[in-house]
Amino acid sequence: MRVGVLALQGAFREHVAVLAALGHETVEVRGAEDVDGLDGIVLPGGESTAQARLLTPELAAALDALVASGAPVLATCAGAILASRRGWLDADLERNAYGRQLHSAEAVADDGTPLVLIRAPRFTRLGSSVEVLARLGDDPVLIRQGALVAATFHPELTDDARVHAGTFG
Ligand code: GLN
Repeated sequence: MRVGVLALQGAFREHVAVLAALGHETVEVRGAEDVDGLDGIVLPGGESTAQARLLTPELAAALDALVASGAPVLATCAGAILASRRGWLDADLERNAYGRQLHSAEAVADDGTPLVLIRAPRFTRLGSSVEVLARLGDDPVLIRQGALVAATFHPELTDDARVHAGTFG
């Protein structure tokens, strides 16, 4: 597959490396023209306020169309916040929900998924079409809504490629 990685800000290079290791063609997406011909997209973690500032209306519209086409999307951390704000994901998140003590931490989800949490958000509402794939305690950390998978952690910073492989099958 030809998979784009939104490359405005944040941990996009690590996603490119995981996708390449899985045999996908990758494109760093910085402008609307980069979205042409993509089969899927990764929205990386980083700072959601910075990402929102750097996202031009043209690029946002191109991504709106790609998501509406049903292409697979992997939204991680700040990327999940972006997906929620743009209406691609029917869920709400609280930013930096774990406070200072969980500024950065490693944990393991209930299904064995290794978690790297960096100033992680928490889902505060999930729409009826959202399925929970993994939890940490009571909190959903990995969810799916159709072809869109969203994580509050950083799967690209572990050596477990199952989240990427499952999204871009
Ligand atoms: N704290 C960041 C934000 O709210 C998200 C953190 C991340 O992407 N790891 O934008």
